[in-house]
Amino acid sequence: MSRKIWLSPPHMGGSEQKYVQEAFDTNWVAPLGPNVNEFEKSLENYQGQKKHVAALSSGTAAIHLSLILLGVTKGDEVLCQSFTFSASANPIIYQGATPIFIDSELETWNMCPEQLEIAILNRLKNGKKPKAIIAVHLYGMPYNVTKIHALGKKYEIPIIEDSAEALGSMVNERKCGTFGDFSVLSFNGNKIITTSGGGALITKNEVEKEKAIFLATQARDNAPHYEHSNIGYNYRMSNIVAGIGRGQLEVLENRVMTRRNNFNFYKKHIKNSDFTFLEEPDGYYSNRWLTCVLMPSFKIREKIRLSLEQENIESRPLWKPMHLQPIFKKCLNFSNGISEKLFNTGLCLPSGSSITENELHRIVGVLNCF
Ligand SMILES: *Cc1c(COP(=O)(O)O)cnc(C)c1O
Repeated sequence: MSRKIWLSPPHMGGSEQKYVQEAFDTNWVAPLGPNVNEFEKSLENYQGQKKHVAALSSGTAAIHLSLILLGVTKGDEVLCQSFTFSASANPIIYQGATPIFIDSELETWNMCPEQLEIAILNRLKNGKKPKAIIAVHLYGMPYNVTKIHALGKKYEIPIIEDSAEALGSMVNERKCGTFGDFSVLSFNGNKIITTSGGGALITKNEVEKEKAIFLATQARDNAPHYEHSNIGYNYRMSNIVAGIGRGQLEVLENRVMTRRNNFNFYKKHIKNSDFTFLEEPDGYYSNRWLTCVLMPSFKIREKIRLSLEQENIESRPLWKPMHLQPIFKKCLNFSNGISEKLFNTGLCLPSGSSITENELHRIVGVLNCF
């Protein structure tokens, strides 16, 4: 059997262990320390736009804290992109709020601006103004930031930008993760860079960052004993893990280039013109976290997925939309059928930055048999 090809495995750059060793040498084995501070600073420099970054234990934690900081609470409604990973939506439930799912547009596969406005108007008519919008740059492709943020502004609804899959992506040279009222990054094991597990919340100012860190470290008031006037969370990033992050950030640009090259390789070498790819709209720059290919039917997609599996190659259907998930089936949704079609006919191909040209040829070989 040929060597297993994974969908998106971790890819260390080389200096991660040096920073982890520093943490051991100085005994900063805690959810604070120099690696955490430096990792945050480097992320702030990388993202630009004078943003502030709080390093956390996961991207999910960052979404949860965004909702708390926006005052989302029991009974509130939150509009959320349906075509996404469940972690975008779960924190809405943590807050006792109600998600309402918005379908995708064809141009970016992300939140459809028309459906979003229909949903907002519908909720306003019901006397219920949504408390927040969660929009996602899925697979690294930016959502239509111009239109989505214009709607947020028009109806005065804050936007949480789920940039978990889009570190390094841009719109008109501006980094994804700098558009939202709050923005979210993830460093989980399968993301474009990883700290094994981790995330970050990006805020517009230092006060919000401090609030996030306060909540992420058990909400301890200023007193010699442990005094609490808020419910806190244990969401801060560990100094060990942040060391991995520092090493990974040094190679981020390289990782983006490699993933984009993977995409171009697939596009060039997959011969069947019935297999299509998502192109970048003008001014859009995707990190191509995962290369996704659309096939003519569910049947063909499954055939190819199983053939790849037989060749020891991991692939995966696109995310199953939240409005089709059993756990969310009672939630209101505004759909146009697009994300369901993407789910039924799309396949994510191995896209890791450590993949070799030989392996890419192996994968393309299977696809070109059809
Ligand atoms: C990975 C991911 C998250 C959650 O990040 P974690 O760090 O795994 O908690 C949220 N949203 C999307 C779109 C993701 O892909």
